[in-house]
Amino acid sequence: MIVAERKPLAEIAEMLKPFRKICILGCGTCVTVCLAGGEKEAEETAAALSLLRQNEGLETEISTGTILRQCEYEYIDDYAKNGFDCDAILSLACGVGVQTMVARLPDKIILPGLNTKFMGYPLEQGVWTENCLGCGDCVLDLTMGICPITRCSKSMLNGPCGGSQNGKCEVDKDVDCAWHLIYERLSKLGLADRMDVIQPPKDWSTSHHGGPRTIVREDVRLEDGE
Ligand code: SF4
Ligand code: SF4
Repeated sequence: MIVAERKPLAEIAEMLKPFRKICILGCGTCVTVCLAGGEKEAEETAAALSLLRQNEGLETEISTGTILRQCEYEYIDDYAKNGFDCDAILSLACGVGVQTMVARLPDKIILPGLNTKFMGYPLEQGVWTENCLGCGDCVLDLTMGICPITRCSKSMLNGPCGGSQNGKCEVDKDVDCAWHLIYERLSKLGLADRMDVIQPPKDWSTSHHGGPRTIVREDVRLEDGE
């Protein structure tokens, strides 16, 4: 899932300063699960912002709502049927959701309420970890499910780099060395000899390094593009 954190309230307040009627819109999927931008967080943000603006003597009218997925036109269209009676929308979706909203509602002022961090999963309550950079050519088969692109600080395909100590990465002693984890996993599975295979340089053109990417699936595409 996409993991995000809400921006500091002071930053949100500053970007919304020129507007009186504000709609704070949560998103009901990833950012709800990571407790950053769901219905509850939209209401909490509205209450905190209201108080802050009141203290600053700013006239304010704040409403809240939630779109199940701000990253899909059909959910935006469904919500937008009733219109938006506001001067600006604060979107508590990830960066994908904010941009999808802007694309679908070009006449509206839509501002980001979150800092989108990464793709990852919850390790435990309140702790999320990054584990995929969307490189476009997955190599998890080589490492038996531990991503060297994301979890190795140097994205090495032929690790370890020589700097790891006691299983920790040289760039941060609190971070596991991905290649130590890979070695341990391969050993446990009786596949440690895979460490001897030299991987060729990765073709980064499948990742963001080749520019913004688009996937076209003709088999599921509709004529009118909707
Ligand atoms: S190899 Fe690429 S696609 Fe696979 S998990 Fe790592 S970054 Fe994601
Ligand atoms: S110590 Fe391990 S995780 Fe850190 S950069 Fe070197 S190989 Fe990668």
